[in-house]
Amino acid sequence: MALVSMKELLIQAKQEQYAIGQFNINGLSWVHAVLDAAQEEASPVIVAASDRLIDYLGGYKTVAAMVRAMIEEKRIAVPVVLHLDHGRTVDNCLKAIEAGFSSVMFDGSHGPIDQNIRDTKRVVEYAAAYGVSVEAEVGTVGGMEDGLIGGIRYADLQECKRMVEEARIDALAAALGSVHGNYQGEPKLGFEEMEAISKAVSIPLVLHGASGIPPWQLQKAIRLGHAKININTECVTAWTAELRKTLADHPETTDPRTLLTPARSILKETVKNKIREFGSNGKA
Ligand code: 13P
Repeated sequence: MALVSMKELLIQAKQEQYAIGQFNINGLSWVHAVLDAAQEEASPVIVAASDRLIDYLGGYKTVAAMVRAMIEEKRIAVPVVLHLDHGRTVDNCLKAIEAGFSSVMFDGSHGPIDQNIRDTKRVVEYAAAYGVSVEAEVGTVGGMEDGLIGGIRYADLQECKRMVEEARIDALAAALGSVHGNYQGEPKLGFEEMEAISKAVSIPLVLHGASGIPPWQLQKAIRLGHAKININTECVTAWTAELRKTLADHPETTDPRTLLTPARSILKETVKNKIREFGSNGKA
């Protein structure tokens, strides 16, 4: 199946009260694991490349070609979205769209709201001709992402409304207390604010920094309008632990396949568990 926009997938997920997982890729193993997991669970899936990792991954075109080719070679039949996570500039979003990504996030959340809306609108206008979906962020998700640390700033309801009405985005990441990376103590999401924003904007919401959020909070976030949930830290943590174990168990081995295959399998199981937690299994 060809890559698809996330627009219709998220609308359906929101209506039927489940969420589609966005799984960030950190190399070839992740593409294998995420696609296999989605296929085995009969679930739509969002494969994401963080803009900050694009050079490390080989560039927008390399990522798009790798994901497209693997969908074909593996005969993946479930809907797959290839999404740019936290696009840092309008130009980077346009490059991703031209390279073949089927969805992009423009993250102008660190600047003033007027600028954020203006820039997001440019991305939306460009994306429309390609049938590419666009996500934007209002407020800031805290924590560590790709080596950068930032604080939480709650999304403002009026700013969220303006972003949706003026830029006409497909999905909104409204920062409501989640953090990228590991939580210190129990995560505390702002459910009251979430309900008010969800009612005010009516488009699907996106939960960033979902690793470590307990299932009851994820379920509540889904009931209150989240149709996309982003996971990276839980996957990299599981992958690294398994790799360390394999290295310790086979100190004499220099065969990368022997060293990396168990970690890839754990990655697949982690993604499958998340898909079931989000309720998107069987929805493809
Ligand atoms: P975690 O690393 O906390 O899972 O967050 C992932 C994310 O939100 C990517 O945008």
